[in-house]
Amino acid sequence: MALLSGKVALVTGGGRGIGQAIALALAEAGAAVAITGRDAARLAVVQAELAAAGHTALALPGDVTDSAAVNQAFAAARAALGPIDILVNNAGITASVKFAEMDDATWEQIMRVNVSGPFFCCRAAVPDMIARKWGRIINIASRAGLVGMPFSSAYSASKHALVGLTRSLALELTRYGITANALCPGWVETDMVRDTVANIREKTGRSDAEARASILALSGQQRIIPPEAVAAEVVRLASPAGDGVNGEAIVIS
Ligand code: NDP
Repeated sequence: MALLSGKVALVTGGGRGIGQAIALALAEAGAAVAITGRDAARLAVVQAELAAAGHTALALPGDVTDSAAVNQAFAAARAALGPIDILVNNAGITASVKFAEMDDATWEQIMRVNVSGPFFCCRAAVPDMIARKWGRIINIASRAGLVGMPFSSAYSASKHALVGLTRSLALELTRYGITANALCPGWVETDMVRDTVANIREKTGRSDAEARASILALSGQQRIIPPEAVAAEVVRLASPAGDGVNGEAIVIS
């Protein structure tokens, strides 16, 4: 029997990048998977790919910053697949901005997506987990949730907040058989890195290779890792091998 068969997972931002890789890995491990995001067409493509590979998948378009939409998505997932066992808060955004030039809207949107979104999703998922005395909450934070990051103060602050939320839930919910952990990846090859590299090229005139070398030098990382490296860790945490891991902030770089 597959590792996660009988489990229901919901992955926010599951239409591309790390979230898409997580959705596929969870499905391959046997879970039924609901994916959310704003881009309905993109979600439909990923759902069709998963279904074509024989997996159970559900696309639920919606914005993670809208708490009513989040509640609706969870209700739809529950109705179609059953209660959520595994929640992966993956949707996230960043912006490279000099701190003194940060405007209110950019700051607030990063906090809404990266902190309030996971709050809304955890609040929607936890009652089912408590009732069933089992649950896995996996928050995709960042290395920037553990250390500072120049030109990314809002992002780093938001990811520190997400790590704090994770650690608090871990302590509060452990009595119900629920674990909460944060994954803290370094640079991962997705649109987020490609946009960051393009931004550096535009602002500094550096080549693609130079821009990539400069972000790696900042973090001391040797290479930009594939999304599948993060997805594999999500599966480990969701599976019995992850039972003893709670309240951790795990760096993958
Ligand atoms: P991408 O930019 O490739 O994907 C971001 C995802 O978030 C998309 O699926 C997007 O879906 C979703 N999303 C963004 N805003 C919203 C919103 N308001 N409502 C719902 N969904 C939203 O990024 P990555 O795959 O790289 O990032 C995924 C996570 O990993 C993020 O939390 C990021 O901070 C984190 N991370 C990434 C690293 C990297 O180097 N790439 C390193 C460390 C952490 P849609 O556009 O359809 O709404």
